[in-house]
Amino acid sequence: MPLASQFTVELLKTAGLNKNGPSRAQVAFLRQFVDRTFGEGSRRSAKEWPELEDMLTIIDLSANSGHHLGKDYSASQLRTVRRAILVRMIRMLEQRYSAGEKAADANWQRLETFFKRFDASDCAVLSMNWDTVIERGLERTQKLTRFDYGCEARPAQFVGERLKRRTLRSVKEVRLIKPHGSINWLYCDACRETFWVPPDEAEDVARTLFGTRDWELLREAALISKIPKTRDPACPHCTSRAIGTRFATFSYRKALDFPMHTASWRSAERDLKQALHWVFIGYSMPGADYEFKQLLKRVQLGEPIRPTITLITAGSGASETVQRFEKFFGKVDKERFYFEHGLDGPALAHLTSIGVLRA
Ligand SMILES: [Zn+2]
Repeated sequence: MPLASQFTVELLKTAGLNKNGPSRAQVAFLRQFVDRTFGEGSRRSAKEWPELEDMLTIIDLSANSGHHLGKDYSASQLRTVRRAILVRMIRMLEQRYSAGEKAADANWQRLETFFKRFDASDCAVLSMNWDTVIERGLERTQKLTRFDYGCEARPAQFVGERLKRRTLRSVKEVRLIKPHGSINWLYCDACRETFWVPPDEAEDVARTLFGTRDWELLREAALISKIPKTRDPACPHCTSRAIGTRFATFSYRKALDFPMHTASWRSAERDLKQALHWVFIGYSMPGADYEFKQLLKRVQLGEPIRPTITLITAGSGASETVQRFEKFFGKVDKERFYFEHGLDGPALAHLTSIGVLRA
């Protein structure tokens, strides 16, 4: 999957997308917003876009306090901009995942090995990403379909236009904490219940998130002529039409004051306390994650027996990431394990030796 730093370029890619599909109109709407707000009216290429983190923070700060941003965007229009970004992210992540699955290159095969041998009965996963790579990988390789997200999210599914409760058949459960939310979660603004749908229903989530009123704004701006199909399902619990999503975005003011996020953070803390080994895969400890880093530090220092730290990283910034981890967790002989070439042979062997993977 693309790194967060590559998201902007990926979000704006429309080559290969349906000419009359929803994504092109949403991209045009976002471009218009950035040209006006950050380009003083002149056209900006993907490379000239501000950081997504900056954009989302500025949108959040204005919209959440009920303010305009410039003369063109009211608080409610800013919320449409935010939803357009999120919906593009959901679809972009889905499109990239399908492309990865089709290509099935060497990295994909390594990840597949990891999922095949992953011991879900003895490990919990904490994912800072919104994508459903883990859910899909474990379902494909081990038929694991029951996920405990640690936030009391209830299983549901789309049946046509409707969102219905779902009974899970699989007995084996995977503990998977997602403190930033997930693209297969829905949230009811009325009863505050969270629902999770099968990972392949993310497109329905996207359609639910970007509603008719959002599309009307795009029609007013002459970006579309006909409003695409949206979903507005009744809540399976309280029947209100108040189903949406909540993501903790890159924004420095992450939307963490929602019940499912709070519960996820509590579960993360509990799991981190119990774990003998902390294994970080592809996590570079970005600046915006200061709440998470504080949690790690707090738990690390609170445990009489400190967890061992394993870092599996890759790419040109690998050695800087290792240094960052060392500076943050300290150098301790025989309790630090660093792998700079992704899930290669030595990394998989180490994961087997500490019980993350089955032999
Ligand atoms: Zn409800």
